[in-house]
Amino acid sequence: MNSLDLFFQELSLREDCSLKKNIDLSAMSTMRLSSLGHMIEVYSIPCLQFVLKSLKKYNQSYQVIGRGSNLLLPSELNHILIQLKLPFDPKIFEEKSDFYHLPASMSISVLTAKAIQHNIKGWEILTGIPASLGGAIYMNAGTKFGEISQLIDSVQIMNSAGVIREEKMTSKSFSYRKNHFTREGDIILSAVLRHLGQDSSVATVIKNYAQYRKQTQPLGSANCGCVFKNIDKNLPAGKLIDIIGLKGLSQKDLVVSSLHGNFIENKGQASQLEDFQLLIDKIKRVSLDYIDQPLELEVQL
Ligand SMILES: Cc1cc2nc3c(=O)[nH]c(=O)nc-3n(C[C@H](O)[C@H](O)[C@H](O)COP(=O)(O)OP(=O)(O)OC[C@H]3O[C@@H](n4cnc5c(N)ncnc54)[C@H](O)[C@@H]3O)c2cc1C
Repeated sequence: MNSLDLFFQELSLREDCSLKKNIDLSAMSTMRLSSLGHMIEVYSIPCLQFVLKSLKKYNQSYQVIGRGSNLLLPSELNHILIQLKLPFDPKIFEEKSDFYHLPASMSISVLTAKAIQHNIKGWEILTGIPASLGGAIYMNAGTKFGEISQLIDSVQIMNSAGVIREEKMTSKSFSYRKNHFTREGDIILSAVLRHLGQDSSVATVIKNYAQYRKQTQPLGSANCGCVFKNIDKNLPAGKLIDIIGLKGLSQKDLVVSSLHGNFIENKGQASQLEDFQLLIDKIKRVSLDYIDQPLELEVQL
């Protein structure tokens, strides 16, 4: 029995984790590229501690996945995917508070739903982002209204040795689609989130922006949101791709969206990460004839 099998055997004895061996992982990311590998669902902090310590002992690499809306998986994964499924009671919002301590695995759509229900100001900046709280913090996700960094007071993190620490957020903790406090192997466990009081116009702002997104982004298809970062405020990546005529460009089932140039839609089930790479390389090459710095990826490969 090799060390990985031994670990899997130990894991199967626990009730606060679930091991999925050699499974089809395509549904784990919103882009739905074909992918095979092992995944562990984690339901408790002690379980995560056990998993990380064991993976360190057996020298096995891992990656945490949230909603998989900004992550593309290779056809054969040689590291283990970890997904947090920590307990969360939405009743927490029934009590009025300036701060809420929330698990990283919760969906941030809960926050916009609560913002509508209770007129909570500040959370409208997350409208329509299909993320877990942990993934949104890791990526400093945001919209035209702002970034999640504005709302985070502190973050609880477990490192690869299973040690938990708290990071208090400062003005230097984030930049555009990036955090500056996680280190390799760190997993965000939870965060303390603030809001900006109450405002009766919040529900309308959220509903209007959700409607706008529906009209301007291919939300019904398999995609990973914006592929490239915007390097020029006056010429967002999607607009650039549109202007240089790359909408409709394809590689296997992957097509540059006709609705939004910075989205690539997966129209079938055959495409793999290599196809995505070929398509983005072409977009990068062609765009260099029009701009003097290469487009930078927002999506995590
Ligand atoms: C239709 C669509 C629309 C989108 N619109 C927007 C938008 O308006 N604005 C925007 O900013 N983004 C947008 N995105 C991209 C994406 O939703 C965000 O980047 C989001 O923050 C990713 O969250 P996730 O939970 O899916 O993370 P994943 O995609 O699962 O992971 C992203 C990265 O975060 C890391 N990660 C995830 N969870 C944790 C954790 N607990 N601890 C440490 N690291 C972690 C992963 O390892 C990975 O490196 C969109 C995507 C789609 C598909």
